Amino acid sequence: MHFFAHVVKFFSSLTKERVDVSFPFRMKDVEFEGKRFVEVAVGLPVAKTFYYEIPSRFGESLRPGSRVLVPFKGRKVTGYAIDFPADLTDYQKPDGPKPILDILDERPLFDNRMLVFYRWISDYYLYPLGQVIKGGLPPGINLESRRLLSTTPKGRALLESNKLTQEELTILRTIADHGEMPWEKVTKRFPHWRMYSLKKAGLIQIKLGLKDVRVKPKREKVVKYRRESQVEDEHLSPRGKEVLAVIREKGEVSHASLSAEFKGASRIVKRLEEKGFISVETREIYRDPLSDLLTGDDLRPELTVKQVRALETIVKGIESLRFSPYLLFGITGSGKTEIYLRAIERVVEGGRQAIVLVPEISLTPQLIGQFLERFSGRVATLHSGLSRGERYDEWRRIREGKVDIVIGARSAIFAPFERLGMIIVDEEHETSYKQEEKLRYNARDLAAVRAKLCEAVLILGSATPSLEAYHNAVAEKFRLLKLDERIEGRSLPSVEIVDMRKEEEKGIILSEELRNGLSENLATGRQSLLFLNRRGFASFIQCPDCGFVFKCPNCSVSLTHHFRGKKLICHYCNYAIMVPDLCPDCQGYRIRSFGIGTERVEEEIRKMLPQATVDRMDRDTTRRRRSHQRILKKVKSRETDILVGTQMIAKGHDFPNVTLVGVICADLSLNFPDFRSSERTFQLLTQVAGRAGRGMNPGKVIIQTFNPDHYSIQMARDQDFTKFYGEELRFRKELGYPPFSRLINIRIEGTSQKRSIKAAEEMGECGRRLLTKRLYGRTIEILGPSPAPLEKIKGKYRYQMLIKGKPANILHRFVEELVGETKKRWPGRGISLTIDVDPISVM
Ligand code: ADP
Ligand code: ZN
Repeated sequence: MHFFAHVVKFFSSLTKERVDVSFPFRMKDVEFEGKRFVEVAVGLPVAKTFYYEIPSRFGESLRPGSRVLVPFKGRKVTGYAIDFPADLTDYQKPDGPKPILDILDERPLFDNRMLVFYRWISDYYLYPLGQVIKGGLPPGINLESRRLLSTTPKGRALLESNKLTQEELTILRTIADHGEMPWEKVTKRFPHWRMYSLKKAGLIQIKLGLKDVRVKPKREKVVKYRRESQVEDEHLSPRGKEVLAVIREKGEVSHASLSAEFKGASRIVKRLEEKGFISVETREIYRDPLSDLLTGDDLRPELTVKQVRALETIVKGIESLRFSPYLLFGITGSGKTEIYLRAIERVVEGGRQAIVLVPEISLTPQLIGQFLERFSGRVATLHSGLSRGERYDEWRRIREGKVDIVIGARSAIFAPFERLGMIIVDEEHETSYKQEEKLRYNARDLAAVRAKLCEAVLILGSATPSLEAYHNAVAEKFRLLKLDERIEGRSLPSVEIVDMRKEEEKGIILSEELRNGLSENLATGRQSLLFLNRRGFASFIQCPDCGFVFKCPNCSVSLTHHFRGKKLICHYCNYAIMVPDLCPDCQGYRIRSFGIGTERVEEEIRKMLPQATVDRMDRDTTRRRRSHQRILKKVKSRETDILVGTQMIAKGHDFPNVTLVGVICADLSLNFPDFRSSERTFQLLTQVAGRAGRGMNPGKVIIQTFNPDHYSIQMARDQDFTKFYGEELRFRKELGYPPFSRLINIRIEGTSQKRSIKAAEEMGECGRRLLTKRLYGRTIEILGPSPAPLEKIKGKYRYQMLIKGKPANILHRFVEELVGETKKRWPGRGISLTIDVDPISVM
């Protein structure tokens, strides 16, 4: 049993009657001993939900799906009203539920169907409901309590005395100067225990206030010409006349644009308003994150026969108004995007809405451009690259039905559409759909859940489907749609493997084949891509005399050499030092670098082909906003001859003039200690190769490797998907890995190595005990506990236990019980647990 089977099972009860969007309860129906109560999920790491009383002064204004401000453990926190309990008999506390303090929304933020979705997520990923909801809403709309520090009269009196230490004086004076100061701000500069001692001495007080950092609708002042005004403008200054002329001509202009154009515009506008020429109004506007995205032309090509066939099948699903999942397995350049566009057209025509998930928004400007052209004005985006204000505005536009389509990264799966008819997951195999912090969901899997819940169409698209999706297609849970030809009969590129073990000169970066290919391409005016999945200059620096390697003191990895800043940097925690001249261990002077990164490749190319325009795309060159687009645009306009990059260049781009793709070292992903490393390598190589030969000219791919016989590499060369999946599925089945079982990874972390090990061992023992006692024994297997492949990151020691088994519901129950048991008896503090359901990496 695997994910989708689980989804289907979970919802089998629901499918009989569709989920009602509106909440079933209204407050007036549920009274208990003359009082009304509400069930609230707070946005905190607590598993339970809580009851609160609704004081009568709020009348019946509270709706489920709204936020409420509630007292919680001496604080004021935001919670979400999720239900009105009809019965409080199982309520434990003698003094009854506390009253809510405020209702924060007039209109609910989510409907009942969304709540069912949230609940499913909370159950499946073993994550508190309140935090699931919080994560699904735009950030920054919540109220939180905060501690405010101020001085007491006694404290102020002592300011002028000499009874205090210098530090105490400085703290007191700082707080006194501000009147009231938030706790975080003070403790950023001074040790926090000091505050307690000052409070104990009666010199300062700590008050509870509310932090209101909420994003608000953006407003704009507009100036309108009053047509009815009969006044002559004779008495105006020349500039006044000028401004009035502009306003009259346009009818209405934003105040900001007038200010930009005219000096002293505010004063002039005020005078014009007084004289009745114009009126000034304020209105809400939306921040538009897509406003400066260059869009392409909307060509709307005639569909190919294969595209038509695929689309027709999808349209049947759309018209059925039932959950209809498809796997669109289309090789690179086969025209998947056009199918998405046409399918969405049909959905929108039917009055429903669509979510399009893409792996990384900044890497897909072309795709977004196409959507903007085709559905102008009806598209919103949601992703973490937006400012809080932008995200809030986009969210409101979606909520208010002002758009039909949302394109976004994984978090867009929470887009608050009420009539969702389709979810598309482009490049569904991408690992970026998995969130690797807090709620560790996989947006691709949630897409299936939500589509099922909304009776919507699901399209997973990929040239290299994940094994899970492919397996589902084979098992006919998904309808398989194949596009196995490139548009206009363009051929797939020819792939050549270069065995780097044979390269005579050790440490050579570019094989002769690749060097020749690059020079040839440059001479004929064609473009090339060079792919290496490691940034930086060299992977590590070593002293050949004593073997010393520079390692990060916080993480169990070697530091990566970055040539530009002459620095050694940890790619996990950003720890950085300058490259020293001498070995810190033996004082040897011959330390040198080993392994290569993109920076080094770039330099090598510049040396070899000084006349070429070379650019690089990796995390180092794309730190600034829009830098992705700038680099991609230069490739598109053919300014760049050779682009060097990490997996950022492997994805979805459509550059017709790129005819050569070089893979510098195919072994990096192959050597990952993870059961998915073969799958990843195959996908990566196929995707990179797919960047070549998308135009009229055929493409060529050169793969350099030390493992030329590995099946991932061989089958990527032959582009033999079916054979690869066959091989890989056999391997997974043999070892009982997904999709033939399910995994949950429990990570135990702490700053003390000793205590972390102890905790991990205890948990292992407890797990094994549970296995003997229960029905778990036959279906569940525990691997570990063992040190994580990266044993130490950011100063924390990491141990992990992989729980493997099926079916999902038993596996989940087991983990829940195990975590509950161990947490109860957990010896010390400072140990944190992370539960990763369906992990995609167990590093
Ligand atoms: P994929 O996403 O499957 O890799 P794309 O959607 O990028 O492929 O399509 C490859 C190229 O073919 C794009 O430039 C696209 O505009 C073009 N294209 C798609 N469908 C057609 C068609 N029916 N006729 C002509 N060109 C098409
Ligand atoms: Zn580090």
